[in-house]
Amino acid sequence: MSDIKTLYQELILDHNRNPSNFGKLDDYTHMEEGFNPTCGDRYNVYLKIENDVIVDIRFEGSGCAISKASASLMTNCIKGATLEETRKMFEFFHNMMTVESPKNELPEKMSKVSVLQGVKEFPARIKCATLAWHTLVSALEIN
Ligand code: ZN
Repeated sequence: MSDIKTLYQELILDHNRNPSNFGKLDDYTHMEEGFNPTCGDRYNVYLKIENDVIVDIRFEGSGCAISKASASLMTNCIKGATLEETRKMFEFFHNMMTVESPKNELPEKMSKVSVLQGVKEFPARIKCATLAWHTLVSALEIN
């Protein structure tokens, strides 16, 4: 049996209590709404992009601890990254969450995100962890 502690690690609880980059971004250039109907997680992701660099990113909304911590960790990875780096980070994250034994180690910048790997033990919650990242990617492709 999977230990529930695997799911609610300290880092996740910390980011849930004090999420990074939380709140609306007023001068955004890109925005997308994300919704996970299986859990009720709902977030808006705001991006400010200049010369293919994500100079600022914020999110607002509400949902479970996993979804909020994942969005918070994501904003820390993405802030200051180029669009190309962002796409690569999404691929690393997606791979980490969907492949049983990912071949590639996460880049240094994403090391904290690996705490979410424990969520794979709880398949119903994977969408909570991936919501913010999918919202990010659709925000980038729409505009
Ligand atoms: Zn959730």
